[in-house]
Amino acid sequence: MAYGRVPRPRPLSVRLAMSEFALIDLIRERCAFERSDVYVGIGDDGAVARPPAGQDLVISADTLVAGVHFPLNSEPEDIGWKVLAVNLSDLAAMGAVPAWATLALTLPTVDLNWVRCFADGFAALARQHQVALIGGDTTQGALSISVTVHGFVPQGRAILRSGARIGDTVWVTGTLGDAAAGLHLLREKKSSGAAHLMGRLHRPTPRIAAGMALSGLATAAIDVSDGLLADLGHICRQSGVAAELQANALPGSPALLAEFESDERLDFQLSGGDDYELCFTASPERREFPQLDCPVTPIGRLVAGDGVIVRAENGSEIVVLKRGWEHFTS
Ligand code: ADP
Ligand code: MG
Repeated sequence: MAYGRVPRPRPLSVRLAMSEFALIDLIRERCAFERSDVYVGIGDDGAVARPPAGQDLVISADTLVAGVHFPLNSEPEDIGWKVLAVNLSDLAAMGAVPAWATLALTLPTVDLNWVRCFADGFAALARQHQVALIGGDTTQGALSISVTVHGFVPQGRAILRSGARIGDTVWVTGTLGDAAAGLHLLREKKSSGAAHLMGRLHRPTPRIAAGMALSGLATAAIDVSDGLLADLGHICRQSGVAAELQANALPGSPALLAEFESDERLDFQLSGGDDYELCFTASPERREFPQLDCPVTPIGRLVAGDGVIVRAENGSEIVVLKRGWEHFTS
């Protein structure tokens, strides 16, 4: 069935007070991006969109709560960017191409400039990946932002956490530990001079192209949002395997290497969250990934058993106490 052309809602007009609906108009205008697979976008009770034939729909949601996931005084552009980035990162880990998003925004007050900047940060990343904002909800309360993203993979080709096999190599894209190092500097009020680390914390890059290229090559994948040990631990549990990592193989950025000694660095790389790199596993015969648009590094291998252990260069096990971020734990 065809819906034909649906008239666009009226343009923003001069208004006396910002109501909920004027806020929605503002967001819709600043995030406007047309896709031919969206028949009804923002403005009706629900959006109507159609996935391409032969594709599976991949859906993921993530919430950012002020004071939990970002400092209360964060730049609204950064919050807008990051709330979409963390969601797109989940699609990347599934090997999916993003298409649509919804946005549930809870705001303490109507701060027009804040919403404008927030929407611009969101829209900047959305346009990069041709994501259409097709709906959402706007409510009053403590600042909290929930995004749901929808993407496509060819039928049966989503990369799952459960596909890893004993003997597979463990790989990671990009570098690890930057965002945690940036957060550490922010807490110590020493963020000046560490632009790369702060950029990685506030404006993570979802590894969309890499994720898509890994479909059919990786046996399992996850994005590193809570910390490498915690996230690789999920692959291990769901695949029924254990992992052995080489501490000296973990890739670190020049900025991280310049700012931190090896112990602290290792802590950020193993337990720090928010990097949004992809950790994936692949057959040991596969020694390189020329298909990917970013560097990848082999960091360990899968063995029989459960859990993730880390070995130093001399083969001894490194005991890590803090293994990653988890809500509802102290
Ligand atoms: P309803 O009361 O039927 O749930 P709303 O008044 O909440 O509808 O929303 C009106 C329209 O605006 C809907 O299409 C909804 O998806 C969209 N919308 C509401 N808030 C947002 C938002 N923060 N971002 C994008 N779309 C939104
Ligand atoms: Mg309704």
